[in-house]
Amino acid sequence: MKKYAMPVIMLAVFETVAIALWLTKDNLFYLFNFSYIGISVSLGVFLFIKKYRHARRVVQLLVGLYMLVYLGLICNENMQIEGFWYYLFTGVFEAATIHYAVAKIFGPLIFGRGWCGYACWTAMVLDFLPYKVPKQPRKRLGWIRYITFAAALIFVAALFLAHAGNLERIMFRAFIIGNILYYVTGIILAFAFRDNRAFCKYICPITVFLKPMSYYSLFRVKCDKEKCISCGKCRRVCPMNVDMTDNSRKRENGTECILCMECVKNCPKGAL
Ligand code: SF4
Ligand code: SF4
Ligand code: SF4
Repeated sequence: MKKYAMPVIMLAVFETVAIALWLTKDNLFYLFNFSYIGISVSLGVFLFIKKYRHARRVVQLLVGLYMLVYLGLICNENMQIEGFWYYLFTGVFEAATIHYAVAKIFGPLIFGRGWCGYACWTAMVLDFLPYKVPKQPRKRLGWIRYITFAAALIFVAALFLAHAGNLERIMFRAFIIGNILYYVTGIILAFAFRDNRAFCKYICPITVFLKPMSYYSLFRVKCDKEKCISCGKCRRVCPMNVDMTDNSRKRENGTECILCMECVKNCPKGAL
């Protein structure tokens, strides 16, 4: 039974958040929302333990489609970074601000960039592309993320400074246009750099939050040096160019790990 502790813990964490928000915000939606995500994530971890090959993809589709289609398109919630700034500026602690606090700012202290591996609706599509393992060396283009981060902030700040009317409608349109831009840019970059996750590595503004917080992540892939035979297979299958054989927090691309577990699955010695 011990091996099933992880999905149970994951479910317990999400249910705690769900119940706490339901009671403090007096809104049943939070109970439904975080319970759904918790059940999806726990199911994925359970399937992984059962060695189901597509466990991560199941979670990615369950959570990613829910957030994109239900929350984004049906409920008109802008859950992108512009939505986060928008709700923050209006002083409303709900929707995108809660989402960012849980999944992208404080959550990564526990589960690192699990969001990127299991829930992001942009990566949900990019992961269908053919370059699951990068076919070219990593580029020094990470600085672009700071430009996209600043652009999102300036865009929302400008709306407030200009006293733009019908902000809800503008934010919904920004959500649609922003997603289309992300998908088009992500797909072009994936083929140009022969790397499905090129968008994540160089463009995505959310990594400005995710990277520093995931540096301190509780959940990390670690290497048992006694078992490791230095065959290098783990590094060859990593989509994010992480040196998971180095156990220090300063390891190469350590804040890029999306906890996809490809290295763990492929290690011939069970050292990870
Ligand atoms: S880096 Fe950005 S686009 Fe990539 S998975 Fe994470 S949040 Fe999604
Ligand atoms: S795949 Fe396993 S044995 Fe090979 S280098 Fe990586 S951790 Fe070591
Ligand atoms: S292959 Fe391993 S180190 Fe690389 S992103 Fe996946 S879990 Fe992290």
